[in-house]
Amino acid sequence: ANATHYMTRSLELRRGLDNDELVLHYQPQIDGVSGDMVGVEALLRWNHPVHGLVGPSEIIPIAEKSGLIIEIGSWVLREACKQARIWQDEYGEKIQMAVNVSARQLQLAGFADSIAHELAISGLPAEHLEIEVTESLFMRDMADMRAKLQRIQDLGIRISLDDFGTGFSSLSYLRTLPFDQIKLDRSFVTDIDRGEEGRALAITIINMARNLGKTCIAEGVENDRQLEVLRDAGCDLVQGYLLGRPMSAQDISRLATATDG
Ligand code: C2E
Ligand code: MG
Ligand code: MG
Repeated sequence: ANATHYMTRSLELRRGLDNDELVLHYQPQIDGVSGDMVGVEALLRWNHPVHGLVGPSEIIPIAEKSGLIIEIGSWVLREACKQARIWQDEYGEKIQMAVNVSARQLQLAGFADSIAHELAISGLPAEHLEIEVTESLFMRDMADMRAKLQRIQDLGIRISLDDFGTGFSSLSYLRTLPFDQIKLDRSFVTDIDRGEEGRALAITIINMARNLGKTCIAEGVENDRQLEVLRDAGCDLVQGYLLGRPMSAQDISRLATATDG
């Protein structure tokens, strides 16, 4: 029954992709000091004709397992670059576009080339694009992963280490792999409210990022107390429901216009 269910879901996802039912929502990334929106993270949604808006936790596993993630990932990259270019034209100021990339995409031999291609057709400058990768990626072939990430960084694209501190974190990754930014996982942000040790740990990771010459962004910021601790610790960027939920491109445009004037 499970296999049938999976087959049905993956066929349906395929159809959804072909029928343009996938959409990107965007969550603001805010400068900790100025409070300005300096970027957004693109987050995948599936506008399902029957089930309504479906989130990545239901899409990504099916996409990964079926191999559809490659095509979906290409679509995400193209759509995100196109939208970032529109915002660049509308607002002049740089809005950094962060795109989540899966292990399967990064392992493709021509992945860096395909990003370069998307930048070229959208006309988006490489410095506006950032990719978010997770640690789960590096378990396999470290030297190969290093070379692949380096090629991407050499294009001028920033690389952010997502969900930092979860999973099989090895600090040696930070030395070996070319990251520009550490993304403090939501669990550490939540722990800020749960006693002195949680607060100390978050601050320590922010300091570590700074000492390594990397920027730091905190995700999942939900209240003022967390924001205050992160700001005081010098966290460069903050992201979370307190500062803005993931929203449609149109709503981001409104937000950018509102803060502009
Ligand atoms: P992520 O990259 O770590 O994204 C952050 C997730 O936390 C998002 O969930 C976001 O909606 C949620 N979030 C943001 N602020 C808060 C907050 O203040 N509180 C709480 N509780 N949650 C918050 P979402 O959109 O469901 O995405 C889940 C994961 O799916 C992402 O985690 C990412 O790993 C993956 N994903 C999303 N879009 C894509 C994509 O285009 N490609 C790939 N490969 N993965 C994607
Ligand atoms: Mg992410
Ligand atoms: Mg994350």
